[in-house]
Amino acid sequence: MPARILDGRVMSETLRAEISQRVSELKKRGITPGLAVILAGNDPASEIYVRNKGNGCLETGMYSETVRLPESISQEELEAEIDRLNQDSRIHGILVQLPLPKHLDAASALARIRPEKDVDGFHLLNAGSLMTGGEGVIPCTPKGALYMIRQTGVDLAGKDAVVIGRSNIVGKPMAMLLLRENCTVTVCHSRTKDLAEYTRRADILVAAVGRAGFVTADMVKPGAIVIDVGINRVDGKVKGDVDFDSVREVASWITPVPGGVGKMTITMLLQNTLEAAERAEKKA
Ligand code: NDP
Repeated sequence: MPARILDGRVMSETLRAEISQRVSELKKRGITPGLAVILAGNDPASEIYVRNKGNGCLETGMYSETVRLPESISQEELEAEIDRLNQDSRIHGILVQLPLPKHLDAASALARIRPEKDVDGFHLLNAGSLMTGGEGVIPCTPKGALYMIRQTGVDLAGKDAVVIGRSNIVGKPMAMLLLRENCTVTVCHSRTKDLAEYTRRADILVAAVGRAGFVTADMVKPGAIVIDVGINRVDGKVKGDVDFDSVREVASWITPVPGGVGKMTITMLLQNTLEAAERAEKKA
């Protein structure tokens, strides 16, 4: 029997309805959750992501603003914008759209965001909190991927989880989240020898590689949950890291691309922004 589909569109719809409900409750108390997205330069893919984030805010009743900065902006000017947004009480979440133009220092810019407004969860305090089991903000893509894994209803404790990819924004936080769920986690990367030896043992396999169709059926354990984080543009089409048609015949659950993790990422950004506004209300 082919794998069941973990549908990011359907899950997002349900979650966004809940988010809208909580936003309208906050609004009744005079607070509109607000997200500011900083976009430096004219990267076409970033333009699309930023537009989708703004639309997500509109759809759920949140306030959003896009701060457009020229490609030539200096580090000081960029950080001055972040400082301004840190002080702006209408803004509960700040996101610096990556990648930044090459001459800018992304780590320094991210460190400038107040951790409680860091809705991407990339600030070192939030990363450290995830590592040490704290209550910090969790990065949107792995948070969305974990939500999808949980929707299978499978008891995750003791399961073998393999994450392919060790980036700070996907692979590493994903591994930490699965560890929190009491999975036995293996992180693979470009230097891993005999990758398929690891992936074939995975009850849960997360692919965050950035290569279209990289994970093939022979690399997957029968009955596995397969989560495809990849977004790769091939001949004008968006493709995942997993060879969907073949892997679907082996796995028990699988996420499609498009309509899988990508959709959930923006939904989790909205959730993180809402939660930042709720926390700000409690603190006030
Ligand atoms: P990075 O390029 O930062 O990381 C890719 C990882 O894959 C690296 O750790 C790299 O290893 C590893 N890798 C590369 N080649 C191989 C190989 N042959 N065998 C094993 N491992 C390999 O990418 P990101 O983590 O930022 O993103 C990964 C994918 O997810 C991309 O397609 C990206 O577009 C997508 N993405 C999707 C999002 C969504 O919303 N769905 C959000 C963010 C990203 P090494 O460290 O050794 O170089």
